[in-house]
Amino acid sequence: MQAFWENDSRRLQVFIMSANQFVHKALDILANAANTRKLEKRRAKAYFEEILHIILFYGQINHPKVDPEEILQENNHQLSEMYSDVFEMCRTHIPKRPPFTVLLDAIVEIVGTRHEDNVLPCLLLTINDMEVPNDNKLCRNIFVSTVINLCYFYDEHMRSRTHNYFGASVSYRGARQKKIMIDILCCYTWHRDISWAVCVANHYEQNAFTFPPHVRSMAFNIYTHGQSTQAKQRVESLLASFRDYPVPRFLKIAEQVGSLVPRAPCGRCFKMFPNIQFYPSHREPAFWEHGNCAECESLSQLLSSHEQIVTKLHRDHFQIGRDELINTKNRRLQQNLQLLKFRIRGVVPF
Ligand SMILES: [Zn+2]
Repeated sequence: MQAFWENDSRRLQVFIMSANQFVHKALDILANAANTRKLEKRRAKAYFEEILHIILFYGQINHPKVDPEEILQENNHQLSEMYSDVFEMCRTHIPKRPPFTVLLDAIVEIVGTRHEDNVLPCLLLTINDMEVPNDNKLCRNIFVSTVINLCYFYDEHMRSRTHNYFGASVSYRGARQKKIMIDILCCYTWHRDISWAVCVANHYEQNAFTFPPHVRSMAFNIYTHGQSTQAKQRVESLLASFRDYPVPRFLKIAEQVGSLVPRAPCGRCFKMFPNIQFYPSHREPAFWEHGNCAECESLSQLLSSHEQIVTKLHRDHFQIGRDELINTKNRRLQQNLQLLKFRIRGVVPF
């Protein structure tokens, strides 16, 4: 019994430290980007408000509930005074996406390019800075995703490709809280075709549509600073297996950037998106819900940015009943929020 309470209290401590660290590091990065004119002040403020709201909202749906004051541990009440509306809204309004997804978007905007050679090193630098102490060592911040993904579309007629679109897996340790975030993404955030693909796979164990040829996707496990030697060894052993062949791009990225290990898509992603060219292409078993993976976010961004790809989706008869499937997700969302005693009044306006 004693061990149980100790574990519970340590979990709570890690939650508070991760939340606190995430908010303050995000503030540093965004303020610095605004001061060096890499990001408009207005944009930096919007990103920060969104991140602050999500983290404080997570405190409200945590078990036990953690109030904003406990998370931020401010002596001077600077943030609570400056963002009083966010402090209010975290108790009544749900966010639209996880905090790491917002940070990823901000980093893409700060870096000013969607090239993986620029975005990924900057992202990793940020993540290393967010680790939290636990048991005399530094551990992953619980709001930092474990997997990052990028995708693009190669148009064989035009012989050109789109930019990269990045996504991250849903990061949260509690099972109910994770379901809440997946349902929010499906109901309020993702491109409707991606939400639909998640719902159809959940309900019918089938794919809802197929993409046009040459949508390419690669994913990486993000290793922490402390795991960098392990990451290096994994990449070296993969490189050794390509000794007699040209090294594929996904492996070159992992070798150059460090702390990233190529990751094959899970069985659920294969089912939802059967004709995507995945790199690496073998299939990993899935122990999580449809919609948890980084692929959904990046593919959603690809579709939202390129209407010509949406028009080329090959849809089948599952379009009937689409609203009912989304409604089922919405009902589960409401029930889970109710169980965690969160009284929803709306979705955040930002
Ligand atoms: Zn997956």
